[in-house]
Amino acid sequence: MRFYNTLIKSVEEFSPLEGDVVKMYTCGPTVYDYAHIGNFRTYVFEDILRRWLKFRGYKVIQVMNITDVDDKTIMGANEKGISLDEYTREYTNAFFEDIDTLRIERAEHYPRATEHINEMIALIEKLIEKGIAYVADDGIYYSIAKFPEYGKLSGFDVKSVKAGARVAKDEYDKEDVRDFALWKFRRPDEPFWSAPFGDGRPGWHIECSAMSMKYLGETFDIHIGGVDNIFPHHENEIAQSEGATGKKFVRYWLHSEHLIVEGRKMSKSLGNFYTLRDLLSMGYNPIAIRYLLLSTHYRKQLNFTFDGLKGAYSTVMRLWDTIGRLESISDLSVDNKVKPKVRDMIDRMVKGFTEEMDDDLNISPALAHLFDFIRDVNSTIDRGELGSADASEILKALQSIDTVLDVMTPIEEEIPSEIMEMVEKRERAREMKDFGLADRIREEVFNLGYIIEDTKDGPKVKKKI
Ligand code: AMP
Ligand code: ZN
Repeated sequence: MRFYNTLIKSVEEFSPLEGDVVKMYTCGPTVYDYAHIGNFRTYVFEDILRRWLKFRGYKVIQVMNITDVDDKTIMGANEKGISLDEYTREYTNAFFEDIDTLRIERAEHYPRATEHINEMIALIEKLIEKGIAYVADDGIYYSIAKFPEYGKLSGFDVKSVKAGARVAKDEYDKEDVRDFALWKFRRPDEPFWSAPFGDGRPGWHIECSAMSMKYLGETFDIHIGGVDNIFPHHENEIAQSEGATGKKFVRYWLHSEHLIVEGRKMSKSLGNFYTLRDLLSMGYNPIAIRYLLLSTHYRKQLNFTFDGLKGAYSTVMRLWDTIGRLESISDLSVDNKVKPKVRDMIDRMVKGFTEEMDDDLNISPALAHLFDFIRDVNSTIDRGELGSADASEILKALQSIDTVLDVMTPIEEEIPSEIMEMVEKRERAREMKDFGLADRIREEVFNLGYIIEDTKDGPKVKKKI
């Protein structure tokens, strides 16, 4: 298995530090608002990576932090005039609901920053002791000049930085590369914790260093985030952790490219974003959203369009239709053996899918193997050549692939009762051979957003997207 490691800027063979256990840290949400689908692109990618590692036999220990204290959450709580805890709780709950909706598997640990202040303080103390951190008038800062490897992840040349210049904000650009705040001294409008070096609250970057090392150790396998995290966040995490321990912090750094809208990163600050909830209330299917987010290679930008989302929906519907056909064949009691030709089709698909996913999660050709297979399965069914044992074997293979993709079980969409009544009325018209009325009802139903399909088991109703 190979991944692109941002640290060495090339693809390299992956092997975990300890046998078959993979320890990975994923930068989690800053809970100051609902997450947008750009954020979910990164979380879905991390989910695919996690599931792929498990598919290949690894045990995964994943940590995802919840940033519930930083510049943004404090500002949000102050604007609303409520406590930080009350403010962040709502968005933390919403985050967990959203990841369940998108079928993102739960990580093993979700540490909250406010519950790990002691670990952050201990880390800062160590950095002060080592002379890497220093006290300024508004907080404790990290002296990047004391860490000669600063810049190794983002490729930034530290020599061009003016010594001693500081930045207090959690988020800043490369043009602002400077000593950054580890701890911000108490201010009248901010929550604070007591610390030996002065009351205050942590900067954002120290949170991830402290929480990752607490749960995964001083050196662990994989650290992930979106490309916007490379600088300054991950660069600073390396400086803090390696500065304190003298050991390599992370072995493989993986970063996913952005989801973009008309050429620009989807982000809160640009206002060009949709939350998951926005899309659901517009009637889009969560599995279609999941499929859209996972189907572009993680190192390529994903251009979000509604046409793309509709396309994703028809793709997953194709999968569901094929699975429905296979299920009705596999239920037939006629028993027979799996045909060698079918066995061969399955093996080719699984092998192709696996080889591509092993190659830096090369999802597009992996999916192409799957859909070539789906096409062949359908034409075999059309020719009446698929037996029940064949169908069961194919379903087993698809279930196994679906432990990674998790898009093959449809979400039962509730059809409103008035639509169901119209469908029944149409059935009665058909029984009376009043096909004119039946067609008119079908059209009316269509105009209300639903499609009636006549199958041998009776009419089926689907939401139109
Ligand atoms: P935040 O809550 O802003 O800290 O972001 C949470 C995660 O979402 C981070 O890993 C970001 O890199 C990632 N992220 C933010 N915006 C986008 C985007 N437009 N596309 C992909 N990932 C994003
Ligand atoms: Zn982080």
